[in-house]
Amino acid sequence: MRPNDDVDDLVHKDSTYLLHPWADLNQIKTTSSLIISQAEGMYVCDSEGNRFLDGIAGMWCVNLGYGVSALADCMHEQAMRMPYYSPFGAMTSIPACVLAEKLAELAPRSLNRVHFTNSGSTAVDSALRFVQYYFNATGKPNKKHIISRIDAYHGSTYLAASVSGKRRDKSYFNYEKNFVHHISSPNCYRYCKGITTNEFCDQLVTELEDKIIAIGPENVACFIAEPILASGGVIIPPAEYHQRTLAVCRQYNVLYISDEVVTGFGRLGHFFSSEPHFNIVPDILITAKGLTSGYQPLGAIIIDDALVSAISHQSNLHDNFFTNGYTYSGHPIACNVAIKTIELMQEKKICEHVKSVGPYFIKQLETLLQYSIVGDVRGDHLMACIEYNVSSSEIEPTDADIAIAQKVDQYCQRYGLLVRAIVDLCDLSPPLIITKEEIEQLVANMHRAIKAVQSECNIK
Ligand code: PLP
Repeated sequence: MRPNDDVDDLVHKDSTYLLHPWADLNQIKTTSSLIISQAEGMYVCDSEGNRFLDGIAGMWCVNLGYGVSALADCMHEQAMRMPYYSPFGAMTSIPACVLAEKLAELAPRSLNRVHFTNSGSTAVDSALRFVQYYFNATGKPNKKHIISRIDAYHGSTYLAASVSGKRRDKSYFNYEKNFVHHISSPNCYRYCKGITTNEFCDQLVTELEDKIIAIGPENVACFIAEPILASGGVIIPPAEYHQRTLAVCRQYNVLYISDEVVTGFGRLGHFFSSEPHFNIVPDILITAKGLTSGYQPLGAIIIDDALVSAISHQSNLHDNFFTNGYTYSGHPIACNVAIKTIELMQEKKICEHVKSVGPYFIKQLETLLQYSIVGDVRGDHLMACIEYNVSSSEIEPTDADIAIAQKVDQYCQRYGLLVRAIVDLCDLSPPLIITKEEIEQLVANMHRAIKAVQSECNIK
């Protein structure tokens, strides 16, 4: 806290003046938010001085942990050297050029053309707009339809929210329905009943193909997919799902967008996981969050050279301006932080560290399966979730499951651990610097919290 900060006054200001993302509007004046005011390494402190192990890296993003002075210093240096200039048309900044080259080097094969945005949502929006531009400019203006999945989360701009598929997020907003379609969630835990995982994969791939055929391949522009659905519940599709869905897309000239906002930047032990982890090379890759370790807002799309070449220097295309971008696209300070993030990740061998502690993290979490309220524990390296299933309902989460997730969240907080309760599950995505000892501490607190909830609810 700063010397003159008064907690009661801050709570009043928060409940009176702020509209939070995902605010419960029926509680807007009555909820007392947790004011996080200090942070160091793996830990954050609230305004009352309580210290928490951060099990969620802020929001899947503070991958290098808190208090990294090299990141703060490079913000200061760039702010003093040149804080901002327009990125539009033929203008650029040194950090934007340097970072674009670095991202092209880290991205697979010919994904070399980088377009910066301010966030994951604006990156998703920009990728989808690029795809529409591409097909308009290459003489296929009917190729407009986008296929996404139930349980996907791609962001909160109009189009990104429309392609997202989390049912409980579909509230009183409007969503684009004319050219957006959702196919089934690849959630083996909930939906793979009475069949093998391979048969489930066959079903999912056939559903994609059937959907393309139903809309008409000449009308389908792209398929967008997170390699592992993150806030939809750390849903890991069956093996070969991505390779097979990509093959279907290739067959029908449908572009494949891989949303690596969460799975990129080390969380699965790679800068980008599409190629090394899932064996696919998409047409467009999306990154944000860990790109700056959460120290600055920044997103980017990385596009295959072939797509950009097909619409560049075309004498038949007049007014061929890619009129998409933001005042702060590729902001010099944010790009400088991303460059430093990449350097630090390489110096500190963060991807190697994740490869070493990630399997231990998942193994430790699996010990939670002994409790009757825990339905599933799943994850990959440093992204995981605990799904509650109180009533053993095999199909959809019930209100009881959701209430349990909230209770576990509250007990975790009481025991000094921050997790993220989403519907009937707790997501976990700690900073990538987490040690084995901190993993043990995190899991021990989850054990305590789950036991406390079982005892409070008289569940054996
Ligand atoms: N894509 C994925 C996979 C995400 O998880 C998120 C955010 O959680 C987004 C896109 C949107 O990113 P942002 O919140 O930075 O707009």
